[in-house]
Amino acid sequence: MVLVPLPPNTTPVPPPIFLPGMSPADSSSTEASAPAPTSLPGHTKEEETQSSGDKIASSVNGTAPSSAEAFLQPRLRLHLNDLTDDGTSIFLSSISPSSILPSAVSRVQKALYVHPTRGYHIPSTRSVTLIVRPMDGVAYTTGIDLDPEQHKEIHLSSRYVASISAERRGHEIEGVIVHELVHCYQYNGHGHAPGGLIEGIADWVRLGADLAPPHWRKGDEVNGKWDAGYQHTAYFLQYLEERFGEGTVRRLNEGLRTSKYEEKAFWTGILGRPVEQLWEDYKKHVDEEKGNES
Ligand SMILES: [Zn+2]
Repeated sequence: MVLVPLPPNTTPVPPPIFLPGMSPADSSSTEASAPAPTSLPGHTKEEETQSSGDKIASSVNGTAPSSAEAFLQPRLRLHLNDLTDDGTSIFLSSISPSSILPSAVSRVQKALYVHPTRGYHIPSTRSVTLIVRPMDGVAYTTGIDLDPEQHKEIHLSSRYVASISAERRGHEIEGVIVHELVHCYQYNGHGHAPGGLIEGIADWVRLGADLAPPHWRKGDEVNGKWDAGYQHTAYFLQYLEERFGEGTVRRLNEGLRTSKYEEKAFWTGILGRPVEQLWEDYKKHVDEEKGNES
């Protein structure tokens, strides 16, 4: 095993209060866990609605948060379990982990929290270890036994890496890493959110990062359930973000932090309608878009 510490390092912070986590399981990739929610005081959705645009504008305009306000950077580590493994060599020749990992962390933090101190409460994830090893499936995220909330492991299958077509490798590996990193930073309704919503949020961030694989299509499988997960739920979330405004998914994630997920109360509380109605609206929207194309 090779252990390569990656910059930047973390600044330790007092641990928040965590509740038990969850373990969404899925057939297309081997998924494990999302971080457990904290019980810290929340912000109101009005704060987010009113200020998220300002926060983005200020960072774009160069008045970036001071170093005291910067997002905490977790310690990032890379384990390569078998250097003789083809997929491991392909991994190393396809991406530059020392730049991809920190930029992916930053992207996930901004997508879910916008600002380190003026946004919602970000979990104080202190370390993320990427483990590349031969295994079935694509990737999964889990907590380290000693402290599962603050120390995360992302397991990436080197067999999967070897199976990606050469021209797509860098893009695909980065997309998978972004998806898994969302699981290191998102909330899960005190363990009661549907796995499909957790996966959908992860792929919504991936979609927003322009890292969608070529087979993803908006409106695929609209005859299924809203929480079919992955890109199906990701495109639904993208629609909600367009309809209810930027920051909608962040409000959903915050709702998953503050209370135990109960479907009706969750959706009507945040968006004023049951999710089934929103899903029907989304299907109509997809039909209209398809109608306009033909
Ligand atoms: Zn996942």
